[in-house]
Amino acid sequence: MSFILAPDRAAAARSLAAALVPGQRVCLTTHVNPDGDGLGSEAGLAHLLRDRGIEAVITNPTPTPPRFQFLFEDIPGADRTGEAIRELRRADVIVVLDISDLGRLGMLSETVRTRGVPVACVDHHASEGVLPDGPRYLDAGAAATGELVFEIAVANGWTLTEEAARGLYVAILTDTGGFRFSNTRPRTLRVAAELLEAGVDPEQIYLEVYARAPEGRPRLFAEALQTLVVEPDFGLAWVTVPPGAIERLGVSSDDLEGVVEFPRSIEGVRMALLFRELSQGRVKVSLRSVGQVDVAAFAKGFGGGGHTKAAGLAVVGSLAEVQSTVLSAARAYLAANGKPPGRAPVDRPQSDSILPSK
Ligand code: AMP
Ligand code: MN
Ligand code: MN
Repeated sequence: MSFILAPDRAAAARSLAAALVPGQRVCLTTHVNPDGDGLGSEAGLAHLLRDRGIEAVITNPTPTPPRFQFLFEDIPGADRTGEAIRELRRADVIVVLDISDLGRLGMLSETVRTRGVPVACVDHHASEGVLPDGPRYLDAGAAATGELVFEIAVANGWTLTEEAARGLYVAILTDTGGFRFSNTRPRTLRVAAELLEAGVDPEQIYLEVYARAPEGRPRLFAEALQTLVVEPDFGLAWVTVPPGAIERLGVSSDDLEGVVEFPRSIEGVRMALLFRELSQGRVKVSLRSVGQVDVAAFAKGFGGGGHTKAAGLAVVGSLAEVQSTVLSAARAYLAANGKPPGRAPVDRPQSDSILPSK
């Protein structure tokens, strides 16, 4: 394989692998409402570890959405999310993927915090979090956690089977919005190319992830998009999931993926938001930006986090209260961070060629 890592990165990848020893029981976990990156990274790493005699199981705080269940079909019994706490109590090592913060582990956070075993972490989020001690492989420059799992495999000389590659491809495909977002770097496409070389069928993955939706998904989009509000003076646009719509339409919150791209797609919009009621009197806000607006920094002000152009937060309050507070803050934030929208100069990534130097 023609992939070259900087020496410090390779060393970090090897120390992480050194904590994962054959015969051990390893729990892989990710954030609440797991997405394609969290789940694909888990599937990829589970295959890589199992190929090395390490029993890796998946223990997430909330269930695997139907469209990602195919990722675990070839590892029968590996998705132990239903018994996550029991599994975590038996684990020799815990690996947290696609998040660095205990708080985002939901109902599992207390168990992970108090377990007393090494807690490794592989993540690409900009926001710093708190986790118990263990090896880290972090890089906010990576498009997806799956890209980092790929690097760990390469640095350790692990063979990448088609099954492992499939999970990592799903991770990168979903977190880059199908290789469209600004996190799509030269390196991202080089990794994706290696995954295709390992045998991944991109059309098959596309069909599994994006073309097996329940009828309720487009209906949910229709209802949410009906609520669109645009404030051109601020460069602000938002949509709201009508309370109860997800349950009524028989879909899950995972089926909302992509809806916030519609307010974001409007000319002149610099910040797009999606509001949705959660249980226990909380409201989730998904934030996306265009240009120079840093929504991770904005989300941090509400205890949330994420990436510069894609972030989220969840706060206590009624839908109307949270909307009013967050939108007022967003208007002020946009006014204070006010470069006019338009054609910003392209932010050229530094070369990170993985081809062997000639
Ligand atoms: P989402 O809007 O759920 O697609 O999330 C966009 C990004 O923000 C992802 O990287 C999430 O991990 C992050 N994120 C979403 N919700 C939260 C939250 N409540 N706290 C911290 N980060 C979040
Ligand atoms: Mn994620
Ligand atoms: Mn991610």
